Amino acid sequence: MRWFDAHNHLQDPRLGDPTRRLTEALASGVEAMVVNGTGEGDWPAVLGLAQRFPEVIPAFGLHPWRASTRSPVWREELEGCLVRCSRAGLGEAGLDGWILDQPADRCLELGTGPSGPAPMEEQIAVLRAQLDLAEARGLPVSLHCLRAWGPLLAVLRGRGPLPRGFLLHSYGGPAELVAELVRLGGHFSLSGHSLHPRKAHQIGVFRAIPRARWLVETDAPDQLPPAEWITHPAAAPGGRPVNCPANLPRIAVGLADRLGLPAEELAARCEANGRRFFGWPVSGA
Ligand SMILES: [Zn+2]
Repeated sequence: MRWFDAHNHLQDPRLGDPTRRLTEALASGVEAMVVNGTGEGDWPAVLGLAQRFPEVIPAFGLHPWRASTRSPVWREELEGCLVRCSRAGLGEAGLDGWILDQPADRCLELGTGPSGPAPMEEQIAVLRAQLDLAEARGLPVSLHCLRAWGPLLAVLRGRGPLPRGFLLHSYGGPAELVAELVRLGGHFSLSGHSLHPRKAHQIGVFRAIPRARWLVETDAPDQLPPAEWITHPAAAPGGRPVNCPANLPRIAVGLADRLGLPAEELAARCEANGRRFFGWPVSGA
């Protein structure tokens, strides 16, 4: 079986040497991965990985947690990265209402910068600017949405359809929104976090999504699954456990089991959906 990791952060320093992490993922059955930048600080690392490895599909975007750290030239920097890699997508972008309720030290730890997270109005403006860029350049978009479904729907409804659609990574929204998000061009990916018993309802929501819109992801180094689904235990400097892209095949076997279909079928479907949505491989890219 060959697996397509629709969302991770291979460049994250918590994962250590990205070449080693990529090599072990390829050896464990991952055929390609979408590596998402989160801000001006990590876009060069994502670009470097994409230039060295054809299995890396880069995405460049300003994550809502990083929105307040952007420089006055962030849009130009973003466009510069998108121009330099023909298989690049736009992401990780999105909206996050959860972060607005977190204590200041937790926000800083998550990378919001010393001024704290950007207020929702500012997050919306930053997202709109990125969607404009994706529309103009015809790019697939990877979106993060946490406790901000109302504002996200308003943004998506308020514009024409994105030419390549969008992926809601680690979809945690309600089942009632699925039909409209599908109509607006949404794809949905499931991570190993859904294997935790307290997240079991997400599997039920996922079953309601048309299978042509299904993807699976690790979101490495985050979204750690329960221990039984980890084949590659790893820790960040400091000792905190992290999730690796190489865990995807085992995680996906768990997801297939919960979804009630053979792992081979989930692999084939998500591989085909991933290739189609992200336009991979691109000849000459
Ligand atoms: Zn992410």
